[in-house]
Amino acid sequence: MDEALDCQRCGACCAVFRVSFYWAEADDAPGGGVPVTLTRPVGPLHRCMAGTEARPVRCVALQGEVGRAVACGIYEQRSSTCRSVVPGDAQCLKARAAHGLESGPGGITSAGLASSGHASAAS
Ligand code: SF4
Ligand code: SF4
Repeated sequence: MDEALDCQRCGACCAVFRVSFYWAEADDAPGGGVPVTLTRPVGPLHRCMAGTEARPVRCVALQGEVGRAVACGIYEQRSSTCRSVVPGDAQCLKARAAHGLESGPGGITSAGLASSGHASAAS
């Protein structure tokens, strides 16, 4: 794997955008999974991860240090927004650039992309 896009050494997309999603993805709705206590309201129909509603942005579920070693504390319960980010896509690269990570020393190669994004996108 291209370690430049190892999500567990990045986490940038959890600390740049507002990570919002439909309210029913939270666990106070039937079938919802995201712990509602870790969310904040965004209008009548959406919520966002706490910590991403204002600057400086950092999701409360993000553990570790961006650009070094991170993990999502609710990985199995994370929202569809979090799951939608693909390492190497436009949101990913924008987030990485915002943290000065750019494409990393190994550059970006399709063969090097991780299979699933660590985290977020934003609205
Ligand atoms: S998807 Fe991109 S920005 Fe998000 S953690 Fe992975 S490499 Fe970093
Ligand atoms: S992947 Fe986890 S840490 Fe990142 S924004 Fe989503 S909930 Fe937060």
